[in-house]
Amino acid sequence: MKVAQQLAKVKEKIQAACTRVGRNPEEVKIVAVTKYASNERTKEAIEAGLLHIGENRLEGLKEKQAFLTDFNIQWHFIGSLQSRKVKEVLHSGVHYIHSLDRLSLAEEIQKRSISVVRCFVQVNVSKEESKHGLAVWELNPFIQALEQFPNICVVGLMTMAPLKATKEELRLYFRQLKKLQLEIEAMQLSYAPCHECSMGMSNDFEIAVEEGATFIRLGTVLVG
Ligand SMILES: *Cc1c(COP(=O)(O)O)cnc(C)c1O
Repeated sequence: MKVAQQLAKVKEKIQAACTRVGRNPEEVKIVAVTKYASNERTKEAIEAGLLHIGENRLEGLKEKQAFLTDFNIQWHFIGSLQSRKVKEVLHSGVHYIHSLDRLSLAEEIQKRSISVVRCFVQVNVSKEESKHGLAVWELNPFIQALEQFPNICVVGLMTMAPLKATKEELRLYFRQLKKLQLEIEAMQLSYAPCHECSMGMSNDFEIAVEEGATFIRLGTVLVG
């Protein structure tokens, strides 16, 4: 199926989810996750109007960027980020990093950046052991510690829900991330405006939208 058709279906679902909870669908931005998509398929997504593109590996990011030079794309790095790859990820001109989850990574970003980098702090709200992200209790001290890194701007929080979670569990995880995001936003820290909530993937984005996601990260349902 064409990406445009898949996108139309997704947009209907976003609209319906927003209607259920009284949200404005314009608050929900779609990051098209193209990690398994070909260059051509990614181009199709961009031509369908998807201008936020997410990749989880440096190699994939660079390949897509080299192929798609003519478009005004916002690039999102969504995967776990090894410190030794930070320099290249930043030099690629990425616009958002979704996976800031440790001070050593923040230090590296500070050291390698030439301007302010928009980051999401990744939180492991489900406490799943295999997942990256800070524990909930680590979040506030972590945010405070980021004040020392002037090139890091915390635009929001991000989470990945476990694949095996029930609908009820997903809702609780998303609700908790939203609550944490609003708490940090309310602190009005200049370096951590924290207006955004990056949560929801192909199998759970409708629940994430109902619970306040502002960026949903979609691969399979859009470009699969
Ligand atoms: C792959 C990936 C997605 C998208 O997954 P789908 O289930 O295909 O929508 C979203 N976020 C991250 C961090 C990913 O690695």
